[in-house]
Amino acid sequence: MISTKSIVPAALLVLLPALACAQQRPEDTEVWEPVPAVVTPGRDGAPPSDAVILFDGSDLSAWSGRDGGEARWRVEHGVMTVAPGTGDIHTRQAFGSVQLHLEWRTPAEVSGEGQGRGNSGVFLMGLYELQVLDSYDNSTYSNGQAGSIYKQHIPLVNASRGPGEWQSYDVAFIAPRFAEDGTVASPATMTVFHNGVLIQNHVALRGPTLYIGEPAYEAHADRLPLVLQDHVNRVSYRNIWIREIPDTP
Ligand code: MG
Repeated sequence: MISTKSIVPAALLVLLPALACAQQRPEDTEVWEPVPAVVTPGRDGAPPSDAVILFDGSDLSAWSGRDGGEARWRVEHGVMTVAPGTGDIHTRQAFGSVQLHLEWRTPAEVSGEGQGRGNSGVFLMGLYELQVLDSYDNSTYSNGQAGSIYKQHIPLVNASRGPGEWQSYDVAFIAPRFAEDGTVASPATMTVFHNGVLIQNHVALRGPTLYIGEPAYEAHADRLPLVLQDHVNRVSYRNIWIREIPDTP
């Protein structure tokens, strides 16, 4: 049998939170500051209004060669193309955490196989490679195909278009953070859409890209140039823009 004594406190326990909730107003959970800055989105693939334009089809003024001199890739018909053997190109500006958009195309005329077919790469901070490769009906190791974080993360799916077709990467890259003693406070992460398809979902990187061996972090600057790779294949790029992602506490 339940006593009156035990019923009353139990009823209060149920009612009190409901009463407290009834005293709160919708406005109590509204946050009005800060007001996000206005950005005008681009139409038909054009960059948003606050993007840093790295290549708009006209010239390579935002880029330099490995030695800091002129970038020597070819620019023609609004497109830049690897001039094999001239080396990687680097942005003149350095970046940390970024949103990056770029469009790329592997040669229409297929030659080579595996890693030798349409190979290039996008190195965030010059260290962390998002692989560019003709992965349309072209077998290679999965953690080295198009859309892989080279030798670290296999893409979720292969969203490749065929050789000679324009493709896009949209990347959210968060730079690694290092503690005072040089140890990793938080690793770099990357999210990537390939032709609009999610292929890397906020993956954590184990360190800079290595061809041989296991990656390991070493403390580096907060901002470093973006690099595009000359892997001796005539890969083309266009419409490259970048936006800095502000630090979050
Ligand atoms: Mg590559």
